[in-house]
Amino acid sequence: MKHLLISGGTRGIGAATVRRFITEGFSVTVLYSSDEEAKNSLQNELSSNADSLLFIKADVSDPKQVSDAVSKAVERFNNVDVLVSNAGISLSGLSDTFGFNDYRKVMDINFGGFFNLIHEIVPSMISRKEGSVVAVSSMWGQEGASCEALYSASKGAVDSYVKSLAKELGPSGIRVNAVSPGVILTDMLSCYSKEDLDALAGDTPVQRLGDPKEVADVIYYLSSSESSFITGQIVGVNGGFC
Ligand code: NAD
Repeated sequence: MKHLLISGGTRGIGAATVRRFITEGFSVTVLYSSDEEAKNSLQNELSSNADSLLFIKADVSDPKQVSDAVSKAVERFNNVDVLVSNAGISLSGLSDTFGFNDYRKVMDINFGGFFNLIHEIVPSMISRKEGSVVAVSSMWGQEGASCEALYSASKGAVDSYVKSLAKELGPSGIRVNAVSPGVILTDMLSCYSKEDLDALAGDTPVQRLGDPKEVADVIYYLSSSESSFITGQIVGVNGGFC
């Protein structure tokens, strides 16, 4: 049984990804931060797969918590075959209203969380000469977004790291890619009004918002042998937005 470790897997894109990998017969370790309610709900929903699921409370921005979580996951399910770095936060507002603490928080979770997971998991992939990594970026990482400058910069860092790691780790048999979602209907959009969401759907060429499952399917594809010659790519899942 192959083993997926995913961060931020209790809701939204992460939960849809957990469902897809469970359906494909994986054992899954889910790192989550503080959303106990979402964790309990997903755990109940997938109770018939309890033997294949491990939930670990860990803040991805804390290297020690990530290290302890990865040790527990490996103890339970053996090596990590697929890493999905999905945990992220958004931050909206004019750039001149953000301070150092905002900068640190967004970078430490969105990019630092990815770094911490790579640091703990990739050495074992290198020694086994196999493994697949998928990061969840954002179209704003490539395009830049007004009033989401720090968020966009953090995702731009993710994209650069993905491309660099793909070059460095390819000779070791490890592929590294990212999905770059457009506007996907999850809790991350809860700050938007119905009018805002309608406008965002209108700005999307396919005239609707994305479903988390549509991102999860691409994540699964990028992790699987179906995409064996794809690495270092930032794959847009955005309904044609950019
Ligand atoms: P979400 O808010 O529902 O999910 C985010 C997940 O990350 C949650 O499970 C949350 O608990 C977890 N998380 C946040 N901080 C964490 C931390 N410090 N440690 C561990 N886990 C933490 O939103 P989502 O839309 O499902 O977001 C998933 C990813 O998709 C994020 O990286 C986000 O930036 C990206 N994304 C989302 C959209 C969108 O429109 N929804 C668009 C582009 C990119």
